[in-house]
Amino acid sequence: MNQSTRARQPTSAERPTVKRIPLSRQAPRAVVALWLFLGGALAPPAPAIPATSTATPSLDRASILFAGSRNYPPFEWETTDGEAKGFLIELEDTLAAQAGITARHQQMEWRLAPYALDHGEVDAVPMFISEERRKRFRFTDPFYYVTHAIYGRRNGPTAGDVADLAGHSVAVVGNSYAAEQLRGAAQTVQHLELEDIATALRAVDNGRADFAVLATHTTRRLIADMDLAIDQVSPPIWPRAYAFAVDKDEPELFRWLQHQLQLSHANGGYYRVYENWRKELEWHRPGIIEFIAKYSWLVAPILTVLLLVSLWSWLLHRRVESRTADLTQALDHRREAEERLAHAALHDTPTGLPNRAHFLEELTRLAAKHPAHELTVAAIRLNGIEEVILTFGNAVGMELLRAFGSRLYSYGFEAVGYLGSGEFSVASHRPLSPEHLIRVITVPVQLEQMEMDPRLSIGVVRDQANDSSEELLRKARTAVAAAAENRRTWQTYEPDIEPNPRDLLLLRDYWHRGTRDMEAYLQPQIDPVSGRVIGAEALVRWRHPEHGLLSPGVFIPVLEKSGIVYRVTEWMVDQAVQLARQYRQAGRPCPISVNIAASDILEHDVVGMVRATLARHQVPASDLRLEMTETGLITEPARVRGALEHLCKTGVECSVDDFGTGYSSLSYLSDFPVSAIKIDRRFVAGITGSSRLLSIVRTAVELAHELGLHVVAEGAEDGETVETLRSIGCDAVQGFVYATPMPAAEFDHYLLQHAAVG
Ligand code: C2E
Ligand code: MG
Ligand code: MG
Repeated sequence: MNQSTRARQPTSAERPTVKRIPLSRQAPRAVVALWLFLGGALAPPAPAIPATSTATPSLDRASILFAGSRNYPPFEWETTDGEAKGFLIELEDTLAAQAGITARHQQMEWRLAPYALDHGEVDAVPMFISEERRKRFRFTDPFYYVTHAIYGRRNGPTAGDVADLAGHSVAVVGNSYAAEQLRGAAQTVQHLELEDIATALRAVDNGRADFAVLATHTTRRLIADMDLAIDQVSPPIWPRAYAFAVDKDEPELFRWLQHQLQLSHANGGYYRVYENWRKELEWHRPGIIEFIAKYSWLVAPILTVLLLVSLWSWLLHRRVESRTADLTQALDHRREAEERLAHAALHDTPTGLPNRAHFLEELTRLAAKHPAHELTVAAIRLNGIEEVILTFGNAVGMELLRAFGSRLYSYGFEAVGYLGSGEFSVASHRPLSPEHLIRVITVPVQLEQMEMDPRLSIGVVRDQANDSSEELLRKARTAVAAAAENRRTWQTYEPDIEPNPRDLLLLRDYWHRGTRDMEAYLQPQIDPVSGRVIGAEALVRWRHPEHGLLSPGVFIPVLEKSGIVYRVTEWMVDQAVQLARQYRQAGRPCPISVNIAASDILEHDVVGMVRATLARHQVPASDLRLEMTETGLITEPARVRGALEHLCKTGVECSVDDFGTGYSSLSYLSDFPVSAIKIDRRFVAGITGSSRLLSIVRTAVELAHELGLHVVAEGAEDGETVETLRSIGCDAVQGFVYATPMPAAEFDHYLLQHAAVG
C-alpha cells in the first residue's frame, strides 16, 4: 500500500487564530438547497458547527494518518510519483498544521479505506455520512456536500430513477455510499463493486455494466478526461454530507479533529483551501465561453492572421478586379478601334454615311430582299459645295454635307450613301415622286452660324432592266450629271440622256476589255533654261479595236462620271513606275507624272496602291509624281489633304493640274502638301498675245515661288512662248514645241537625245 507523507510547519497565517468568517463566505442552507435542486456538482461549504466545550482538545502525537481513495479527483488522488493530492489532502494538511503536527496520507483502493479505519490502521478517513457508517464510525461535522447520479451509455438504455435499475447490472465503487444504498434499495440490481469511479465508468463503456451510480462531480470530470460516450441519465440523487470518520474508540482524536475543523472555519483556513481548489471543485464540462476564455491568448494572433489574410485577399481581389477592368477596357478599346476601322472602311468620314462601296452592297442586299419590287435609286448632287468651301471654309462645307446627309437619313430611305464631291445617293422600294422629294429635301439647311439653301440636282432611275447595283448607281449618276449640266433639279434616267451613245459603247467595251488595249504615252517636261528633260507626264491612250487610238479626252470623262476610272489610274501608275525603273536602269532617271481623279482618292486607297506598286517594282518614290486638278483637290479638302500628306511622307510629290481653270486660289492651295502647279495651256497659249494673260501668269509664277512651289507650264507650242515662260521664271515647260505625247519606246529615244537630269 502506497503511503505518502506530507509534513510542513504552519505559517503564521495558518496558526489558529479567532477570525470572523465573512458573511459572504458562509454558505446559507438556502444556497445549498438551490444547488441540490439544480443538480450542481458543487456543494459550497456548509458548516453546521455545534457548540463545543471551551477546552482546547489536544493530541499527544506528532502526526495523524489520513486514508482515502487513490483515484477520486479533485478530492484526492495519487499522482504517478506516489504523491497524494487534492482538496481533501490539502484540508487535512491544513488541519494538522494549525495544531502544529503533521498530516500523513495513505491513498488506496476506496473499498479498503473503511476497513483500514475499522482496523485502526489509519486515524481518519473523509467520507459520506450514512446510517450504516454511523454504526461503525464517528463523524465530524460535515464540511462538504456531494450528490450522486445514474450514468449510462449515450444512446443506451435509460434510467431516470434508482427504481429503473431493477434487472440491470450496475457498476458502483466497492464499499461506497452508492453501493450501500443499492444494496438496500433494489434487490434485483446486480451490482458490480469495482475499484474506483474510473473502473466503474469503463465497465459501462465496454458494456459490462448497463449503468453506474456514482458521485457526480468526480464522475463528470473523469468522463470528460477519459473522453467516454457516457451521459448522466438521471437527475441528481442522494445528496450527501462529507465529513471525517474516526474510529469510535478514539474520542480524543475525534474531539481534536472536530476542533481543528471548526477552527479552520473560524480562522479561514478551510476557505483558503477551498479557494485553492474552487476551480477544480466547481468544474464542469467546458462550454464555448470557457473554451474561448481558455484560448483567448490565441484569439489575438488568429484575428491578426485572419485580418492579414482578409487584407491580402482583398488586395488580391482588388488587383484581380483592376487587372480585369484594365483588360476589359483594353478589349473595349480594341473592339471600339476595330469597329471604328470597320466603320471607316465602309463609311464616309465627314457625313458618317455609307461610302460608295458600302452603298452598293446595301443596294444588292435590298434588291435581294424584295426581288419582286422595283427599286428606285436617286443620286442627289449638292451643287456649289466647292464654292461654299472656298468662301466659308472647310468646316462649314463639311457641316453642310453632314447636315444634309442626316436630313436624307431621317427621311427613312432604305439606303443612304455619300459618293463624294457633294454627291449623295438614296434607294427605296417606294416610288420616289419628284415633287415630294424636291419638297422635302430642298428646304434650307440650318447650320451652326448660318442657314443655307441647298441647290440640288437629282437623278433618278427605276430598276426595270434588272441591272446590277453598279449599273443602277451609274444610271442615277448619269441622270444627275445630265440634270446638273442642263441646270435642272430633276432628271429621270432615260437611255437617251446618256451623253453619247458612243460613250455607252465605250463603257460597255471598258467593262469587257478593261485596260487591256490601253497604252501609256509620255510627254517630256523640259527645263526652259538648259533645254534638258527633267520629267515626263504619262497620258493614257486607248487603242480601241474598232475606233482606233482614242484620246483620253474621249473616254476619261465618261469613266470619271461613272466613277470607274480607278482601274485606269492603277494601271497607269503601274506603267509609269515600270517605265521609270527602265529609265533609271538605263542610266537616264526621269520622274514620271500620272494624272489622278478626285474619286480615286475619295473612293480608293491610292496611298496603299502607290506604295505597293513602288515596292513591287523596287522604284524610289521620287520617280513617281501625281497630278490632280484644283477641283479635285477642294471637293473634299480634308480627305484629299490627308491622302496627299501620306503620299508626301512616302516621297511621292504631287502637283496641281490645270491651274487657272478652277478657283485659282494659290493661298488656299498652298495649304495642301503639293510641290508644283501646272499652269493650264489656255493661259500659256495666250501669254505672247495678251499682256493681261502674261501678267496673270507672271503673278502666278511669282506667288507660287514665294510659296515654295515649282511652276510647270503646259501647252507651249512655240519658241516665243517658251522664251516668255523662261523669262518669267517657269521651272519646266511641256508642250508640242518640244514633243507631242509619244509611245514609251519613242520616249526612250527622246530621252537618250535630251539628257535627263536625275
Ligand atoms: P492634262 O493632264 O492637262 O494633259 C495635258 C494634255 O494637254 C494632254 O492631252 C496633252 O496631249 C495636251 N497637250 C500637251 N501639249 C500640248 C500643246 O502644246 N498643245 C495642245 N493643244 N495640247 C497639248 P491628252 O493627252 O489628250 O490628255 C487630256 C487629258 O486627259 C489630260 O489633261 C488629263 O487630264 C487626262 N488624262 C490623260 N491621261 C490620263 C490618265 O491616265 N488618267 C486620268 N485620270 N486622266 C488622264
Ligand atoms: Mg496632267
Ligand atoms: Mg493639264
